[in-house]
Amino acid sequence: MLPDLTISKEQVNELMPKLTSDPRRAVEWFALYIFGSKKGYEQAKSQYSQLPQPLCAKSIPPDTLSYKCYDCGNNNDYHIFCEECFLNGEHTGHRYLRSLERAGCCDCGDINAVDAKGFCCAHRGFVGLDNIAKELNSEVRERLEYVVVGMFDQVFTLCERLNI
Ligand SMILES: [Zn+2]
Ligand SMILES: [Zn+2]
Ligand SMILES: [Zn+2]
Repeated sequence: MLPDLTISKEQVNELMPKLTSDPRRAVEWFALYIFGSKKGYEQAKSQYSQLPQPLCAKSIPPDTLSYKCYDCGNNNDYHIFCEECFLNGEHTGHRYLRSLERAGCCDCGDINAVDAKGFCCAHRGFVGLDNIAKELNSEVRERLEYVVVGMFDQVFTLCERLNI
């Protein structure tokens, strides 16, 4: 049975301190509120896992093939692509360096390092988050919005009390 969609001030007031004192219960409450049930949670999770993720961030150990694209790099020198991301991206005709001597974490999806045109099809960067929100089940989205709006009020009150 789904909890009532509207979130009361009391519920938010109750949740906020629990986030630090009893995080387990707070997260349980939050998940139940957002997803309604274990089944709703599983559905949302599998839906989410099929969406393009914002970043790759895969670790590239030394002696592994990596790439740098001179046409896609933003601060041109410091970025690195894992092999998979580079090959799944659109770099036809670009000048690139293929190397076994670099190591790091793949920057695919990170707009600070790489131009969005160089992202592979699996990583769309945080600009894609809008689309992720659209893909979520509309009831889940609505509940998330209620929590955010409910917390606004609480955050303002706390800031005032703590003089932030
Ligand atoms: Zn990658
Ligand atoms: Zn990628
Ligand atoms: Zn490129």
